[in-house]
Formats: sequence, structure tokens, C-alpha cells
Amino acid sequence: SEEKSLNFIEEIVENDLNSGKYETLVTRFPPEPNGYLHIGHAKAICLNFGLTQKYGGYTNLRFDDTNPVTEKTEYVNSQQEDIRWLGFNWKNELYASDYFDELYGFAIKLIETGLAYVDESSADEIAALKGTPTEPGQDSPYRNRSTEENLDIFTKMKNGEFADGAYILRAKIDMASPNMLMRDPIIYRIKHAEHHRTGNKWCIYPMYDFAHGQSDSIENITHSICTLEYVSHRELYDWFIEKLEIFPSKQYEFARLNLTSTVMSKRKLLQLVNENLVNGWDDPRMPTISGLRRRGFTPKSVREFCERIGIAKRENLIELSLLEFCIREDLNKTANRVMAVLDPIKLVITNYEKGTEDLIGENNPEAEDGGGTRVIPFSNELWIEREDFMEVPAKKWFRLAPGAMVRLKFAYIVKCEDFVKDENGNVTEIRCTYIPESKSGNDTSGINVKGTIHWVSAPHAKTAEIRLYDRLFTSETPDAEEGDFKDYLNPESLTVLPHVYIEPALADADLESRYQFIRKGYFCLDRDSNSDKLVFNRTVTLKDTFKK
Ligand code: ATP
Ligand code: MG
Ligand code: MG
Repeated sequence: SEEKSLNFIEEIVENDLNSGKYETLVTRFPPEPNGYLHIGHAKAICLNFGLTQKYGGYTNLRFDDTNPVTEKTEYVNSQQEDIRWLGFNWKNELYASDYFDELYGFAIKLIETGLAYVDESSADEIAALKGTPTEPGQDSPYRNRSTEENLDIFTKMKNGEFADGAYILRAKIDMASPNMLMRDPIIYRIKHAEHHRTGNKWCIYPMYDFAHGQSDSIENITHSICTLEYVSHRELYDWFIEKLEIFPSKQYEFARLNLTSTVMSKRKLLQLVNENLVNGWDDPRMPTISGLRRRGFTPKSVREFCERIGIAKRENLIELSLLEFCIREDLNKTANRVMAVLDPIKLVITNYEKGTEDLIGENNPEAEDGGGTRVIPFSNELWIEREDFMEVPAKKWFRLAPGAMVRLKFAYIVKCEDFVKDENGNVTEIRCTYIPESKSGNDTSGINVKGTIHWVSAPHAKTAEIRLYDRLFTSETPDAEEGDFKDYLNPESLTVLPHVYIEPALADADLESRYQFIRKGYFCLDRDSNSDKLVFNRTVTLKDTFKK
């Protein structure tokens, strides 16, 4: 098989393992439990878990739960479900909040070594002294408090003696650093808020930069992989590790996934959910993993997508049509071909006297084993698509029209003899004769027709609701548009067809089944289905629009 070239992170890992720098590779996936995971997270999951699958070692799942206000157990549970669904298993389930005592200890150590101080300036005062990227900042008037005073106030902060915002703890680094993040960054703030795991034990919480690297270090993470926004944080990441003299985890940055016609920040997705602009986190139009799952994507197709987009050091924008290409490729091999009529019109066969018969259909000509067969009932009254008949046929029209012949998939050739209109001029019925010798698989009629159409036997048909989806946004780059991203929502992103005819075999569909509705796309059962009503989602149309 062909050797795939290594991405730049694999190169680093191979070097580190070959040189003996590390014996065991340890990575982590560190979501904040403040929303459901999306396709961008899938990229980070495939990268982190993929590395330890390839090179050995293990990957931790660490919930980065240091911000009590936005975090919930519901999100912890959904994030675990989504990672498992993608096909990955973590070694340890860990929580940054489990390290609150240790992190507090690290803060004390910095204070004791003269590397942190308590500041009581207002946010505005701190900003005013911060300087600009080209001009150095100035020292806070509280920068040179004594160690005893710092310890005393910090202890009182922890004990709940102050209101939110009254004091903060800052690292004492360099107010003239060209890296603004090194100008005495805030490391602890007072927040009287209940935490989803530690309850009311704490009223001070560490900032991201003081929690993330130290959590990596506590877990002996060798390669801490994050997105490019964190490049400027790396200096601070290394500074804390050096000053605290703890395990030297190393941070590496890669380009985040950006997808056309999609927003991908949990904060923005939460707005769509809270404002009822979609039907929950797992709405099939959402770029969340749960939305993709409900839409009918398979774990394999999502992993394949992440493989194809690769790992880069520069920001880029990936076409949504590539994701659709990946699911189409997978379903083409696995989905059974069945028949459903979305916009029905009646077709009556006037010379069919058998009443009804059972035809046999091959489930999937693309499957290695043909996918088996199933029974398809046939009769003299069928539903076909309205768009498959033209009263006055266009040029090169190979479907039904007065006098024209067409093949009914899995069945016979029929000839249109007549049609019926209602008082408004709408066609309500097409009347045909069939050619008895033209049965599929056993055709001795000698007649060649160019068109084949799908159908469902009217007396045997079941009904279903079908949901068709389009892009959630009208703009290719809703994040970059002027004004609010929600102004660019596509009002036609969901079309509901409440009364579609499906072949009876579909009554047995379960949530795992995937189908190709012949000529109409790939579909799966939706969880809104019940014993009275079947609902199908269109995962994707059949037409590939990805430009290779
Ligand atoms: P969001 O703003 O969408 O919530 P985040 O980075 O704040 O994103 P986290 O829960 O902190 O969300 O992310 C967990 C991991 O997933 C991080 O390591 C982060 O780098 C990675 N990640 C998040 N979004 C993307 C993306 N679009 N592409 C690749 N990786 C991503
Ligand atoms: Mg984050
Ligand atoms: Mg975020």
C-alpha cells in the first residue's frame, strides 16, 4: 500500500520517540463542557487519538472546566457520547477542576518565590497600564507588595471575604515584554459561582493560561496540541512550567478547521439553540457531531473527512461539499436502494389483470455481495413522481409523456396511453399499458427504453414525513460578514414533505439503517419517528458538487 507522507506533528512525534526524548506518547483532548462538540472538535479528536493509535501511548479526555458559569454536566455527557461515537476510547477521564487544590498550591508557590502578586486595580486601570504592542506597559502600584501581604490577601480571596472583581492574582513577569500576554497576566479571579462539580467549594478560579499547561503537566502530557490562536500563549505556557519546576509538556499548534456556510464556535451554536433558530443541538442542520449523527453521517465518513483535510500550519477554509463527498462515498457502498415517491401522482395500468405480484429487488449493486434482495409488491395502481410526466415533452425527454414508454425500476416497461386532469387543469392520473414480456431480469420484449423511473404500489404504500436540508447559512463565510452572523441564516434550510409514499419494506427501518431513495438521495430514519409516523432525514443528495 502507498506510504502517506507524515504531517508536521507526526514528524515531531516520530523525532521525539526516536531520539528517546519520551518513551511513551501521551496526548489529551481537552474540551470545555460549555456546549456540544462540533466538526472542528472532530478534527482535534482524530488528531490526538490518531497519534496514539499510530505511535502507541495513550490519550486522556480532560474536561477543561475552570469557568463555572458556562459549564454543565449535560455537556460533559454529550461530549463523551460523541467521542465514543466517532470510535475513540480515552485512557483516563479527567477534569481540570480536580486539580483546583494543586493549582492553588502552584499559585502559592509563585507568590512565595516573588513571582505573583495580588492587584486591586480596576479592569480599566489595569488596561491603562498595559501599554500597547509597540510601547511598554507600566507597573501596577501593587506590584511590589510583600510576600506576607500577598499571601494574606490571596488566602482571604479564597476564603470568600471579597466580592467578585475586588482583587485578582497576577503573575509577575515583564511589563515591557513584546508579548502582551507576558505583561503580568491575570492568573486567578474571584467568582462567586457554583461549579458543576466542585459546587460552592471555591470562589476563586484559575484563568485558562494558569490551568491548561499545568493540567497538561500534572498528566505528563508529552505533546499538547491546540489551535493557532494559542501561538502567543506558548511563551507563558513554558514560563509557568519552568518557574513551577513541573513536567515539561510542550505545546504545538495546528490550523483549526473552518468550513464554508458554517459557524463553529460553541458560543454561536448556543445562540442558535437558545433563540430557537434550530431545533436543539442535534438539529440535522447543525455542524455538531450529534447533528451530523442525526442527519445520517457515519463515524467512518467523519473520520475520512478529517483524514482528507489534513493537518496544516496555516488557516484555510474547507468546502462543505468535501464533507458531503465523504458521506456519499461511504453510503454508496453500504446503503440499500429503495423507492420513495416525494411528490406523488397516480399511475394506473389498464391491462394489468394479475391484481398484484411480488417482485424481487437487489438491495445494493455497489455492495460487494449485492446487499441481498427484498420483496417489492407491484400492482395496477402506482405512485410515481409528478416531475416524471410531461404533458408536452421537452426535447430529449426520456420519461413519461403521451405515447412515450419508460421502464419502471425492478418491474416492467409501460406506455402512457392517456391522462386525466381536474377542473383546474392539473394532471391527476396517468393511464398506461404495460408490456408483459418486459419484466426486469427476464425481458424478452426486445424494446429499448432510455428512461427508468421509481414508483411505489399504491395499495401497499406506507406514508412518511421527509425532511430535506439545505445549507444553514446563505453566506459562505457567515462569521466574516458585516453585522450579526444570524442575519445570514438560510430561511429555506429545512423543507418538510409531510406525506410521502414509501415502499413497505421501509416500515422496518431502524435508527442505524441507511438508505438510498433511488434518484432522491441518501436518507435515514429520524428519532422523531414513532409507531404512527415515520420520519426520514435526507443526509445528502446524490449529486456530487465537490470540485477535486
Ligand atoms: P469553541 O469556540 O468552538 O467552543 P474552543 O476551542 O473554545 O472552541 P474547546 O472545547 O476548548 O473549544 O476545544 C477543545 C479542543 O478542540 C481544543 O484543543 C481546540 O483547539 C479544539 N478545537 C476547537 N475548535 C476547533 C476547530 N474548529 N478545528 C480544530 N480544532 C478545534
Ligand atoms: Mg477553549
Ligand atoms: Mg470556546
